[in-house]
Amino acid sequence: MKPEDVTSADYIFLSHGHFDHSFDIGNIAKRTGAKIFCSEEAKEIFLREEVPEDQIRVISGGEVLEFDAFKVTIIKSKHIKFGLTTILWKFFSWKVLKSIRHLLRLARQYPKGDVFGFYFELKNEPLTFCHFGSGGYFREELEKIRPDLFLAPVAGRRNAPQALAKMTQILKPKMVIGHHWDDFYPPISWRVPIEKFERIIKELLPTIIVKRLEPLKEIEINPLR
Ligand SMILES: [Zn+2]
Repeated sequence: MKPEDVTSADYIFLSHGHFDHSFDIGNIAKRTGAKIFCSEEAKEIFLREEVPEDQIRVISGGEVLEFDAFKVTIIKSKHIKFGLTTILWKFFSWKVLKSIRHLLRLARQYPKGDVFGFYFELKNEPLTFCHFGSGGYFREELEKIRPDLFLAPVAGRRNAPQALAKMTQILKPKMVIGHHWDDFYPPISWRVPIEKFERIIKELLPTIIVKRLEPLKEIEINPLR
């Protein structure tokens, strides 16, 4: 699916400014008129990309926003720490060194900024879910929410499967779906073994339903309560 395939959107909730999250957002917002909810730092990215300012709403964490069909709580969050062995391994790879200038430019143009999670409560369906774009967190913030479904970002370091299983343990959802584990930007990124995450969840938390994302395939999410 390409950004051009997104033909309608009302709201975009951005977890943080890194390019792998925000690269296509300005484009989609300009085409659809969607409102972007993001950090102060990420706002600068979209102003530079000429998204009209009244389409951008700055969030700082802790807000509860009401819409017709849902309520969303903005959760203060953190970025997962990139693992040292991963960084060293990457920097000694010739392929990575060749693309490092491009990567540094992307890092400058798309600063991380504040990091958020989003907790959605649907008004017409008995379903709550949360989305995090990176696997760092404040434990006390996670303990305030009880999502039926957790969209878990299994990425960013070698032991991401274990780290995200721990986050799942705190959230205690009824269903978990891993995302962000694909090889989105080779050679900098690598495919995270999602099978490992799913195996750990099945061992530690056998009552949780685990589903796997596949491109363009729908996933059935019946009301879980
Ligand atoms: Zn990131």
